[in-house]
Amino acid sequence: MAILDGTLVSAEIEKQVRSEIGMIKEKTGKVPGLAVLIAGDNAASQIYVRTKDRLAASLGLNSIVVRLDKDVSQAELIAEIDKLNNDDSVDAVLIQLPLPDKFNAWDILDRLDPSKDVDRFHPVNQGMVLLNRTGIFPCTPFGILKIMNYYKLPIEGKKVAVVGRSFIVGKPIANMLTNLNATVTLCHSKTETIEEEIREADIVIAAIGKAGFVTADMVKDGAVLIDVGMNYLNKEEEVLEFCDKDQLEKFKKRGYAVTGDIHPNAFEKASYYTPVPGGIGPMTGIMLMYNTLQLCKQRRKIGEAKNSI
Ligand code: NAP
Repeated sequence: MAILDGTLVSAEIEKQVRSEIGMIKEKTGKVPGLAVLIAGDNAASQIYVRTKDRLAASLGLNSIVVRLDKDVSQAELIAEIDKLNNDDSVDAVLIQLPLPDKFNAWDILDRLDPSKDVDRFHPVNQGMVLLNRTGIFPCTPFGILKIMNYYKLPIEGKKVAVVGRSFIVGKPIANMLTNLNATVTLCHSKTETIEEEIREADIVIAAIGKAGFVTADMVKDGAVLIDVGMNYLNKEEEVLEFCDKDQLEKFKKRGYAVTGDIHPNAFEKASYYTPVPGGIGPMTGIMLMYNTLQLCKQRRKIGEAKNSI
């Protein structure tokens, strides 16, 4: 079993992003702009937004964070999106999810200019992914393909089980892999044959948010295991079951540890697997920056937008 190292691969992509930002600055005198809009006080979202802001700023992007109070109205939130749509210095916009329950999330996501929709959640962009008519993909699925490509893992003709059907991960990655000639089964909470589907798969992609859901007995020998899940554990017995020594130490210091949806006992049967943390998480972060660059190049007609996996 070998690790698919998201920290290493994201650092490689970071070098490329950094040099392209320099090139754009030299050509246009401007730097690409990424705006992240967050409404409410969801603690995990606040951490994610801070991390994205730091990464964007460290790469030299023009990073803007629009923080809105949870009491803001839907009309006020939409007015902020309109401002970002019309702001010429902003090339890419991310609306941090989940939004507070009181909002109609679809109406809000639909309002974003599709050409600035960096995470590709707008229905037009989801449709373009489905139809294989775009090379810019939602950040987490794009990160999955980039890491598989880096390690030269074959996709064509392979059987894939995608577990979880969100529009953020499961549905787009299932469509993208289908377009790359894999045979994909998209599993969810109502799938009656879920264990069989996983057991038959050459590649398993787990994105459900349930610690250790995929266990060794469910995977076939030599499978590639891609773990998207990010589960925060605060009970010691869970940390002992799902986490390594490093996470146990972190749990002792800060009161929580992180694990994925794939039980570590499955890794021994895998040919390759992504760890959590250090797998798909850093890939998602860097693909956000990568997509920002592609949208900037498309909008400002600078060179060719790179749009291959
Ligand atoms: P989500 O919107 O909550 O969707 C969860 C999906 O999992 C749903 O399709 C649900 O099925 C399915 N599911 C739930 N319990 C299941 C079960 N027991 N058996 C089979 N399927 C089950 O999740 P998401 O936004 O895609 O996120 C999934 C996980 O990935 C979370 O842990 C999230 O934090 C993580 N994530 C990580 C990154 C990263 O960068 N590393 C990025 C995005 C998400 P139904 O549709 O039938 O309800």
